[in-house]
Amino acid sequence: MNKNSFYIKTFGCQMNIRDSEIMAQKLSETGYIETSAPDDAALIILNTCSVRGKAEQKVFSMLGSLRKLKQKNPELKICVAGCVAQQEGQKIIDRMEHVDLVIGTQHIYNISELLSKSTNSKTAINLSDSYEIPRYIPHVGGSPALHDTGAQDEQFSKFVTIMQGCNNFCTYCVVPYTRGREVSRRAADIVNEIQTLVNGGVVEITLLGQNVNSYGSTNQVIDNPAPYSFSDLLADVAKIEGLERLRFTTSHPKDLSERLIECFDLLPNLCPQIHLPVQSGSDRILKRMNRKYTIANYLEKVERLKSIRPDIAITTDIIVGFPGETEADFQQTMNLLETVRYHGSFSFKYSDRPETRAADLDGKLSEEEKGRRLQQFQKRQDEISLERNREYLGSTLSILVETNSGGKMMGRTVTNHIVHVERAPLDMVPGTFAPVEIIHAGQHSLKGALTPGQP
Ligand code: SF4
Repeated sequence: MNKNSFYIKTFGCQMNIRDSEIMAQKLSETGYIETSAPDDAALIILNTCSVRGKAEQKVFSMLGSLRKLKQKNPELKICVAGCVAQQEGQKIIDRMEHVDLVIGTQHIYNISELLSKSTNSKTAINLSDSYEIPRYIPHVGGSPALHDTGAQDEQFSKFVTIMQGCNNFCTYCVVPYTRGREVSRRAADIVNEIQTLVNGGVVEITLLGQNVNSYGSTNQVIDNPAPYSFSDLLADVAKIEGLERLRFTTSHPKDLSERLIECFDLLPNLCPQIHLPVQSGSDRILKRMNRKYTIANYLEKVERLKSIRPDIAITTDIIVGFPGETEADFQQTMNLLETVRYHGSFSFKYSDRPETRAADLDGKLSEEEKGRRLQQFQKRQDEISLERNREYLGSTLSILVETNSGGKMMGRTVTNHIVHVERAPLDMVPGTFAPVEIIHAGQHSLKGALTPGQP
């Protein structure tokens, strides 16, 4: 074991992946070195997700198996960070006596200091503690050379946090409780950070937040020109010379404005791809979920997006079996799938999350019924994904190369489709662009061949 080495296991969403990068950098600044082998680490961090019950169970089962490692090596420090840490706090230490440190989502920037505090005693810091909570999002990183944490952190493609937290309180969601209320970063800081990244060789940026569409709208961002919305930020970032691809995630449909939709027409480097979580095709269920839009509003926006960018790829999130969902409500979700014909979706069975209003709603469905609906939805989505992917057959698309191992290359199109290419030249390195002809379509990826003229 190297006494300065640390290992991070990340569960959940892109926000958590970014938070892991931040913790990795903070630790590197104090002399720690990242390892990919937990057995070699002196510090193991589990960066957790509580959005679904399954992810939470995985954390506790992994903590259970780390107990043996700690018995073998009492010097080992075990830290639980992220949303489960935020939600459970001290209870984790009470239940898992081998855990040394628990830090909530708002405190990851202080990881080094909190670690030194936990040297002689166990420490749990979450939102309810009086420890100073940063009401701003510090700039972390900026130089690609500072980030070298493996596949999560490509040198040519970066996630940049522009806001965090959420004010929406969808009835099934823990995020407003675990991540707190919305806080946006100063536009000038974001643009400067991205400029530095692009100067260092980054060609693709994804702007990240729980609800990027409401960037700057519900809280005053000091020094931003007023009014300054997410579409203004997109326009300013898109101007950065050398930035080839710009993406954002995640969007709340109610906050997808006409100005933002027009950005897909006006900004050439904004990729024609949007993740637009709808959750249900039934207005009655959307109301119970507190989503604040109707299917008619949603479809109007989808139609505008498709008319402005006919090549746009739209993906979504679906929850099946929400409390009170009837067969008729579920069929409306199936109808919506036929209408929009999503390129892909993430679909889940509803599960109660602690502290959410949905947990107290009546009309809970059996696991069996939820499973049946999920299977029906996923089967049809798979068929549609395949049909949509077949539309690319014979076309030539530019891919941004992500890996090339022994001539087996993988890259992504502007629409975020994965393309595999065989017999690629070895000098076609990650971060370069390659035009490929699509020769095979599967449900989840495409196969391509380098077009003639390529080396
Ligand atoms: S918009 Fe709703 S689902 Fe998304 S993070 Fe906020 S509360 Fe959760």
